[in-house]
Amino acid sequence: MVGQRVVVTGGAGFLGSHLCEALLARGDEVVAIDNLATGRLANVEHLFGADGFTFVRHDVSTYVWVPGPVHAVLHFASPASPKDYLELPIPTLKVGSLGTHNTLGLAKDKGARYLLASTSEVYGDPQVHPQPETYWGHVNPVGPRGVYDEAKRFGEAMAMAYHRAHGVEVRIARIFNTYGPRLRPDDGRVVSAFLAQALAGKPLTCYGDGSQTRSFCYVDDQVRGLLAFLDADHVGPVNIGNPDEHTVLELAEAVREVTGSSSAVVFEPLPVDDPTQRRPDITLARQLLGWEPKVCLAEGLARTAAWMAASTGA
Ligand code: UDP
Repeated sequence: MVGQRVVVTGGAGFLGSHLCEALLARGDEVVAIDNLATGRLANVEHLFGADGFTFVRHDVSTYVWVPGPVHAVLHFASPASPKDYLELPIPTLKVGSLGTHNTLGLAKDKGARYLLASTSEVYGDPQVHPQPETYWGHVNPVGPRGVYDEAKRFGEAMAMAYHRAHGVEVRIARIFNTYGPRLRPDDGRVVSAFLAQALAGKPLTCYGDGSQTRSFCYVDDQVRGLLAFLDADHVGPVNIGNPDEHTVLELAEAVREVTGSSSAVVFEPLPVDDPTQRRPDITLARQLLGWEPKVCLAEGLARTAAWMAASTGA
């Protein structure tokens, strides 16, 4: 798929901006669309003026049109951190539903391939561990996280309908917790929060007793997996994440080590419906894409900490 024209919604976001960069580096043209609700121009300002890069400020929850040929549409627009989507519940529902509908319409019209950024949150608080793609999940539709989880689940259903009814070449990626440079230090996610707190010499805020688990994927690994999937001949869903699972308390310790911080850990209430465990089964991605993550947690945290220290002056 190299040498194509690719639309990236959420192009100024964390994952979107890394995707734009990787696509340009391999010789694709990129049209990045973002309404800057949670994305930041700073994430893509180094791409302005680069050959083949266009930025459009637009909300894809409303009608979206891109003139000229489009070979692929990557739908990555959405608030993605719990703090953000709890502050923006209706925009989150809209971009996951109407935004998915509009961008699928664009892909259909252009004959473009379509990659949906879905999420491990479709598994909710999973009762099967690790989570294979065949697991249907355990989601509370009326809880506060339902705005994100159900929008993404609807997006998957909509993508499958466009695939079945209109033959759109759909790819559904279920993205597990990913971190790296360009995470907003104030986005409330655990890696950004712990790193920002450690660098500022503040206590690390651990929710609950810290025994809940997550599996953290470094952004370069994530982007490599997503592009391999985009180019592959499989609709999905496919889990893309790192199965290296840690408790939140273990993550706090890893952050303290990497940053050389002596910050204490303080305990705060566990958010409603916070999943108790999460780890991707990546058998399918390994077989299908010959992909697996390479960057270990200590290395990824060190790279992210260096970026955050430089960008915040910490
Ligand atoms: N968490 C925490 N302290 C924080 C932020 C998050 O202990 O300052 C916990 C949160 O309760 C969850 C885990 O870290 O159990 C991952 O949270 P995050 O918001 O990064 O993403 P999630 O996987 O829940 O979408």
